[in-house]
Amino acid sequence: MRIETLAVHAGHVVDVSSGAVSAPIQLSTTFERGVEGDYPRGYSYSRSDNPNRHALEEAMAALEGGAAAAAFGSGLAATAAVFQALHPGDHVLAPAEGYHGALRQLREVFLPWGLRADFVDMTDLGVLRAATRQDTKLIWTETPSNPQLGITDLGEVARIAHGVGAICACDNTWSPIVQRPLDHGVDVVVHSTTKYIGGHCDVTGGVVVAREDGDLFQRIRLNQNLVGGVPAPFDCWLTLRGLRTLPWRMRAHSENAFKVATFLAAHPRVLRVNYPGLASNAGHEIAERQMQAFSGMLSFEVEGGRDAAIAVAARTHLFIRATSLGGVESLIEHRASITGESPLTPQGLLRASIGLEHPDDLIEDLAHALG
Ligand SMILES: *Cc1c(COP(=O)(O)O)cnc(C)c1O
Repeated sequence: MRIETLAVHAGHVVDVSSGAVSAPIQLSTTFERGVEGDYPRGYSYSRSDNPNRHALEEAMAALEGGAAAAAFGSGLAATAAVFQALHPGDHVLAPAEGYHGALRQLREVFLPWGLRADFVDMTDLGVLRAATRQDTKLIWTETPSNPQLGITDLGEVARIAHGVGAICACDNTWSPIVQRPLDHGVDVVVHSTTKYIGGHCDVTGGVVVAREDGDLFQRIRLNQNLVGGVPAPFDCWLTLRGLRTLPWRMRAHSENAFKVATFLAAHPRVLRVNYPGLASNAGHEIAERQMQAFSGMLSFEVEGGRDAAIAVAARTHLFIRATSLGGVESLIEHRASITGESPLTPQGLLRASIGLEHPDDLIEDLAHALG
């Protein structure tokens, strides 16, 4: 089946008791046992499993081409489940640039817990190779990276990881559907479903999808049940509803972002545009190999630094000034003031999540804001 068909049908069943086409939301926390004391319908208690979460996990595994998936209450709970599947003392390689919450979690929660970590530029494979150690157990990647859309070669990074007996994980939040890391040898994919998968800025969640249902995934499943950062049935239902239209939304997000990026690249007040779909972008060649489309995220630097960037964001009418991404409405954000003082994030940088408005309206809005 093609991806659009999978997105509509994966994890979908017509409800046997009522014939409802849209799955009922099963709020029950507990499920009846059989007369023999067994669980004839497969469910016992909602933290361990429930029908709405089960459907979402099935659909996510199908879309990423994985063997199994585990859903969590947020993207960072999913991230934590991967780190906690390691053992204290294990060494992790993480990207120097990436989602600041995940990198902070590694630094502030998991280094005290006993993991060791180095943060390296993964767009440079030589640097990455040199940073691997005998005790490296995980290479964590994020591509395109937040906020400057650096492109990491997933196939090469997975090979480097496997060469030292480590696993490779990819945070694929920014490019569901248009990038399938498991196809490139990555072992585990993590999503914040809060973004494109939910797709409407109305539900927080996360998911881990694994290529194999082996020891690693079983440790993640154990974490889901025993640490308990699980999503509510209604949240799973909303996320799955978003997922049904994901391939078509990703196509439109990608087309719109390409048009906006092309406009920005030609604008005299814009110093630099970060969008892997532009041929001028440093990671374009690799991106073209490992992505089917380039998704809806971009960032750009305006002339005049911090004050100029904040003023541009203030003058937009359609773009909403807010963090997050992946919803139908376009968002714009001065990133340096959200991530704190990071020498990696230029003060003149604005990050944009390109939504599903008509691209000409978005371009007119930015043209006006840039003056
Ligand atoms: C938002 C985001 C996360 C964290 O997800 P939450 O659902 O907010 O916990 C992780 N990685 C990336 C790339 C993100 O954009």
